[in-house]
Amino acid sequence: MATISLRDEAAGLLQDLIRLDTVNPPGNESLVAEHLRRYLEASGVACELYARVPERANLVARIPGSGDGPKLLLLSHTDTVLADPGDWQVDPWSGELRDDQVWGRGALDMKGQVAASAVAIASLAREGFEPPGDLIFAACADEEVGAGFGLQWLVEAHPDAVFAEYCINEGGGDRLVLGSRAFWVCSTAEKMSAPFRLTVHGRSGHASRPKIADNALVRAAPLVERLGEFEDEPEAGPEVEAFLRAVCGRVPPPAEVITAARAVHPMAGDIIDPLLGTTLSPTMISASEKRNVIPNRCEITVDCRILPGHTQPEVEAKLAELLGGGEYDLEWIEAQGGTRSPVDSPLWDVVKSFVDELEPEAATVPLLLSGFTDSHWMREAFGTVAYGFLPMRMMESELAARLIHSADERIELEDLELGVRFLRHAAAAMSSLR
Ligand SMILES: [Zn+2]
Repeated sequence: MATISLRDEAAGLLQDLIRLDTVNPPGNESLVAEHLRRYLEASGVACELYARVPERANLVARIPGSGDGPKLLLLSHTDTVLADPGDWQVDPWSGELRDDQVWGRGALDMKGQVAASAVAIASLAREGFEPPGDLIFAACADEEVGAGFGLQWLVEAHPDAVFAEYCINEGGGDRLVLGSRAFWVCSTAEKMSAPFRLTVHGRSGHASRPKIADNALVRAAPLVERLGEFEDEPEAGPEVEAFLRAVCGRVPPPAEVITAARAVHPMAGDIIDPLLGTTLSPTMISASEKRNVIPNRCEITVDCRILPGHTQPEVEAKLAELLGGGEYDLEWIEAQGGTRSPVDSPLWDVVKSFVDELEPEAATVPLLLSGFTDSHWMREAFGTVAYGFLPMRMMESELAARLIHSADERIELEDLELGVRFLRHAAAAMSSLR
């Protein structure tokens, strides 16, 4: 053990984790939790498994703090989305090592960060690391589906196990070159996912005599069109403002933000675009079950993402205006996320100090995510300062974004090692905080 490099240790562990199939549903995350427990206990890290049902365990490992310093949680999830082997160059559960990359489902999302976090805490334990506050590693089930077996359940059923003032999770660490400068992105906030269903009513009838019926699908068509055209009043929140200040050197008025960002780099505009307001994407529609029956109802499902600090009733008012108060019923399907942590925090300094050492001429910038992660459970339950950051230097962020939830997912060994280095740095830097 003593002679193996941290890079090889992380690579070997990641290969093991990929070979344990934790596609959710059904999950079977206990396979990974048990494996991690064996790995961590061999380095003297105390582990506890918490499971709502036996096959879906969450692992929590801990180096106890020697005093009452702030607790740092390295958060991750162990489930993955499915994979269709026919689309892949390798078996998605092979964990194959090829061209200095580990291939397989979950390599990026997020067994790579699971492995990097486990190796960071195991290696620190072997070195006798004694932080003033607990260093915690949680490998949680059920992030991809969110059916209540993972962190959502843990913060309610076992809050003491995962309580922490600070948390490092997935969702950031991209290195972007915009204009003449490199930027490392750390996600500090997330939009709320609040999909809804619109039901439009009509009157059924035989399709051969359209005039005597009232076709709900035809009535729905203009609503779909207006939903697709929706543009919210632009508004730059604190994360977008900080991003603009770093990238553009100033914060332009909301209406000019996109133009100013594009002037630096088109990608900067694309990044900011969905972050200036609520977005609506109609994605599903259903009407008649039969070709020859005119439908009396039509359901439109809309993916809706709301800025943190805004609410569903506000969106309802905007919809009433957009759709002309038309005849429809609106039903919210669910609401998740929509939380932020302050950009200005000791954890920010920890992330920035790593980037400053790694690439002094680059800047660290905060970002609001258009999607969401498990971070919101920590923010909602404990007011935790939770950021998404795992640095990735070798693989371009555009490629990584394409591979996540897709075929040929893989991670560069060098990025995996960089992740271990960052997490060890974060633990050490956090422990020097007073
Ligand atoms: Zn993920």
